[in-house]
Amino acid sequence: MTDAGRRAELAANLERVRERIALACAAAGRPPDAVTLTAVTKTYPASDVLLLAGLGVTDVAENRDQEASIKAEAVRAGGARPRWHFVGQLQRNKVKSVLGYADVVESVDSVRLAEALGRAAAGRENPVEALVQVSLDGDPARGGVFGDDLWRVSDAVTSSEGLRLAGLMAVAPLGEEPGEAFARLAVIAGQMASRYPGATVVSAGMSGDLEAAVRYGATHVRIGTSLLGMRNSLR
Ligand SMILES: *Cc1c(COP(=O)(O)O)cnc(C)c1O
Repeated sequence: MTDAGRRAELAANLERVRERIALACAAAGRPPDAVTLTAVTKTYPASDVLLLAGLGVTDVAENRDQEASIKAEAVRAGGARPRWHFVGQLQRNKVKSVLGYADVVESVDSVRLAEALGRAAAGRENPVEALVQVSLDGDPARGGVFGDDLWRVSDAVTSSEGLRLAGLMAVAPLGEEPGEAFARLAVIAGQMASRYPGATVVSAGMSGDLEAAVRYGATHVRIGTSLLGMRNSLR
């Protein structure tokens, strides 16, 4: 496909996604600018990120460091500087590399990871925004913290001067109506915002369930497939 053809395709997809977000906000009685769109660009090239940035997308997300670090460099060389979110499982030996480009780490799910991020981010001019990933079904295989571990990890983030606790991230569990899971997330988000003033980000909702997420208070939706197309792999 030509660059112009891809640009037109992305522009049309973006318009549909923005329309879905606006309708969901209206249905929930929330202002249309209450929700930020984060484009999940994993498996897609830097050229797509540059086209999306040119179309006004400000936030992009990746889930694998190796792919993301190369892409972020190419995007920077192409003249765009979106906010990069890291949303994948993060090993502590990759923390330094991720902080080379990420403005937001959404997948903080252990005290040890929070401490490693804090050490690597110490002394930065702008703190790295950290979201604690919450498990909505308690299945440890799918990432995220459950129960009181949320407060242990949050405390580890707030004790690190290089990090700012910005809020929560969650993925809807498989095999459950997403609205039920996001309703539980809304309760947890309320507890978080009252314990940690300023920790108000709720990153929830993907291509298939953004409406339910917006209904239950998501401030950021992470959209891959509906914007960029079907990925070849399942990630
Ligand atoms: C891939 C991914 C998304 C986007 O999923 P789509 O269904 O393609 O919109 C959102 N969040 C995370 C954590 C992801 O890994």
